[in-house]
Amino acid sequence: MLALLQAVPAVQDTLAVAHEAAASDPIRSAIAQATYLGASVLFILGLKSLTRPDSARKGMQQAAMGMLFAVIGTLLNQHIITYQWIIGGLVIGAIAGYPMAMKVPMTSMPQFIAFSHAFGAIAATLVGVVEYRELLHEGKLTSGLAGALGFEVLFGALTVTGSFMAFGKLQELITGRPITFKGQNFFNILLMAVAFGSFGYLIYQPEAVWAFYTVTGLALFLGISMVLPIGGGDMPVVVSLLNSYAGLAAAATGFAIGNNVLIIAGALEGAGGFILSVMMSKAMNRSFGNVIFGAFGAPPAAAAAKGEQKEPKSITAEDAAMQLAYAGSTVIIPGYGMAVAQAQHICRELHELIQKKGGEVKYAIHPVAGRMPGHLNVILAEAGIDYGALLTDVDDANRVLNSADIVVVVGANDIVNPDADNDKSSPLYGMPIFRPWNAKVTYVIKRGKGVGFSGVENPLFSLDTTRMIYGDAKGVLGTLVKEVKALDEGH
Ligand code: NDP
Repeated sequence: MLALLQAVPAVQDTLAVAHEAAASDPIRSAIAQATYLGASVLFILGLKSLTRPDSARKGMQQAAMGMLFAVIGTLLNQHIITYQWIIGGLVIGAIAGYPMAMKVPMTSMPQFIAFSHAFGAIAATLVGVVEYRELLHEGKLTSGLAGALGFEVLFGALTVTGSFMAFGKLQELITGRPITFKGQNFFNILLMAVAFGSFGYLIYQPEAVWAFYTVTGLALFLGISMVLPIGGGDMPVVVSLLNSYAGLAAAATGFAIGNNVLIIAGALEGAGGFILSVMMSKAMNRSFGNVIFGAFGAPPAAAAAKGEQKEPKSITAEDAAMQLAYAGSTVIIPGYGMAVAQAQHICRELHELIQKKGGEVKYAIHPVAGRMPGHLNVILAEAGIDYGALLTDVDDANRVLNSADIVVVVGANDIVNPDADNDKSSPLYGMPIFRPWNAKVTYVIKRGKGVGFSGVENPLFSLDTTRMIYGDAKGVLGTLVKEVKALDEGH
C-alpha cells in the first residue's frame, strides 16, 4: 500500500503546469476529465486489492494504470506551452528511478520509500510556492487559496526533511538511536505553535509573504526536529505518517488549483497513511504519542536490571531434521532475520519436503514481523508460498500453535517474546504475540544471542521446550533441507 501511496505525489508534480483549467477545446477537456475519473476509480480498486496478499500484485498494477491515466490526463492540459521540460523530467526520472527500484533489496525497502517520498514532497512544496507567487502576482489570492497553499507547504516541507531524516536513520547514515535533549517536546510544540500561528495569519492576510515563507521554513525545520527523537526501528511508522501528511498536502493543492484527481488521490493517501500508522502502532501495542514522543529504541532500563537468563539449549540442524521429517503439524514463524537472510525460497523447499512426507505446514505471520507492514507476506508470496498456508490473525495462529508438534522460529524475536504477556516492565508488554511455547517443541533459528528490534532479552530461548539452532537462516534451512532429503532417500 505504501508503494501505491508513494506514487500519488507524482500526479501533483505533473500538475504543476495545470493552472486554471479553462477549456478552449471541449473534446480534449472531456477526455482529460474522463482519464481523471478512470484514474480515481483505479486508485480505489488498487487500494482494495492491496488489502490481501494474493491480490496485492493486481492492486499494484491497477494503481500503476491509474497513475498512467492521471499522467495522460495531465499531459492533455491545454495550458502546457511546451513539452520539452516535461519530457526531460520523465527521462531523468525514469533513468534514476528504474535501476534504483530494481536493485534495492526488500530489506532496504523502508529507506527507499522514505527517499522517494522526500522527492514527492519536494514537488508538492515547490508547486505550493510557485502557485502562491503566481496568484500573488496576478492579485488573485483569497483567504481560501492562501489557506490551501499554506497547508500544502506546511505538510509538504515537513515531509521533505522528515523523510530525508527517516532515510538517514534507516540507512544508518545517522544514528538510529533516538537523539533527545532536555525540553525537546516543549521546543517542538513551540515550533509547531509558531508555524500554525503564521499559517492562521496567512489565511487572515493572504498577501503576507513573510507568513507564507515562515510556515515553509519552520515546517522544514520541524521535519528534522520531530524525527530526531524517534528510534530507527520506528521509522516505518513515521514514513507512513509522513505519507499521510503528503496526501493532505496533495489534496490541498487539488483545492487550490481545482483538480479533482488530486483531491481524491490526496484524500486516499492521507487516510491510507494515517490508518496504516495507527494499525502499525496498535500491532506494536504502542500509542501514537509513544511512537512520536516516546524515544523508543533507547537502551531499555528494564532489560538491564533483569539479571542473567538461563543458558539456552541448542540442537544441531541434523537432529532437528529428523524430528521435522516425521512431525504431523509444523508451524513456521518467520521474522526479520528471514528477510535479512533471504531464506524464503529454501524455506518453501523445506515446507514442500515435509508435506511430501505427510506433515502439515502453516506459517504464522505477525502484523509487525520484519521492518515494514506486510514484510513477511511479501517475501513469502515472492517465494510462491500459498496464501492458504498463512495464519495472519494472531489469535487464530495461537490456537493452531497450541496443538502443533513443532514450531520453527526463523529469525524472529520480539514477536515471540513471552515478556509481552508476563513482564509489565518490558517495553513489549501488552503487544499481541505468538506463543510457540504451547506447542510440543520450538526450534529457534538465529545467528547468535542478538536481541530483536526492541533491544530486550527473550526468555523463550531459555525455556525447556526450546532448542536453538544457531546460524544464518538460509544456511540452517539449507542444511535442514539436505538432511530431510537424505532421510527420504534412506541414507
Ligand atoms: P526482531 O527484530 O525482533 O528479531 C530479528 C532476529 O533475527 C534478531 O534477534 C536476530 O538475531 C535474527 N537475525 C538477524 N539476521 C539473521 C539471519 N541472517 N539469520 C537468522 N537470524 C537472523 O524481528 P521480529 O520480526 O521478531 O519483530 C519485528 C520487530 O520490529 C518488532 O519489535 C516490531 O514492533 C518492530 N517493527 C516492525 C515494523 C513493521 O512494520 N513490521 C515497523 C517498525 C518496527 P541474531 O542477531 O542473533 O541472528
